[in-house]
Amino acid sequence: MASYKVAVIPGDGIGPEVMNEALKVLRVLKDQDSTFQYHADIFYWNSDYYLKHGRMMPEDGLEILKNYDAVLFGAIGDERVPDDITVWELIMPIRKQFQQYINLRPVKKLPGIKTRYDDVKSDIDFVIVRENAEGEYANSGGRLYSGMDQEMAIQNTVITRKGTERAASFAFEYAKKHGKTKVTSATKSNAVVHSMKLWDEAVKAVADSYPEITLEQNYIDALAAYFVMRPESFEVVVASNLFGDILSDLGSALVGGLGISPSANLNPTGEFPSMFEPVHGSAPDIARTGKANPIAQIWSTAMMLEHLGRDDLSTMIIRAIEQVLKRGEVLTADLGGSATTMEMGEAIIEELTVHT
Ligand code: ATP
Ligand code: MG
Repeated sequence: MASYKVAVIPGDGIGPEVMNEALKVLRVLKDQDSTFQYHADIFYWNSDYYLKHGRMMPEDGLEILKNYDAVLFGAIGDERVPDDITVWELIMPIRKQFQQYINLRPVKKLPGIKTRYDDVKSDIDFVIVRENAEGEYANSGGRLYSGMDQEMAIQNTVITRKGTERAASFAFEYAKKHGKTKVTSATKSNAVVHSMKLWDEAVKAVADSYPEITLEQNYIDALAAYFVMRPESFEVVVASNLFGDILSDLGSALVGGLGISPSANLNPTGEFPSMFEPVHGSAPDIARTGKANPIAQIWSTAMMLEHLGRDDLSTMIIRAIEQVLKRGEVLTADLGGSATTMEMGEAIIEELTVHT
């Protein structure tokens, strides 16, 4: 029987608070199910660590993490440390080194969460597959003639056939596994004629191996409007780094706030650990008040379990979250209630233990 090794990085602010609840959920699952074994090590690599050691993680930090099956991440960010340090010295190296070239974001309307779409009968339930390693964020370009009338900046987009195909393959495989029948690709090949034409070709080439799944190629401007007009019509959306970034925020705005939005940074081949983290940051404004909603972190943990092959446990967690929200008795402040982080965690755990 597999025993998973999980590296836990709680981080700053509300990170450790919501992580505590996620770890309790994992522990309960392990206690209930003898076929589920894991070992978690906690790494306190955060802004305090930086202030003490002058770096966000030890020199061999990536070597250490490499031995794990997954990284469960809380949130990072502290007013005493510049954002570019927390991001570029901790999150980015993990994403890069472990080739986490997919960012996966579910967009799911949960019961009891007020949205602008409460009149939409059919469910909003899709995922955004964002290419996370190249594209518009390739960090290539430069600036010329600074301060002069002719001042200019050039920013290159890097779209590779291989990079696009692996993102598209992930999207189609995901669709297949989850019984979805349509993949929507975001493009702009009518105006961005070099990079986006290659994107379209590469996505189409992958789609040809999945005759049972329809490929829809939408221009990003129209697609943004469709997100708002008929969000219930999407199943899997695949997009380049920049388009995916924008669509992800639009997606979470459709279905409710930061407190409930999870994400995964995936190395789909499994060669390296993938990383699972809530979309929200360290929320210093509510740290130590007990107001943080742990759902985004707990749902990120569910995504980790799915990635590790325990779809059953992942589904159980998401069902428990949905039950608690449906009942609407225990809600944190961001959802209009007054429950604490721990009370929300406990409610989800109670749901998990009652129904197994
Ligand atoms: P960072 O720089 O770390 O991303 P930020 O301030 O830009 O921090 P968040 O930390 O995500 O962004 O917080 C944005 C707002 O959302 C804050 O007002 C915060 O209180 C709220 N928020 C974020 N996460 C949660 C949560 N889990 N529960 C409740 N409110 C949250
Ligand atoms: Mg932020």
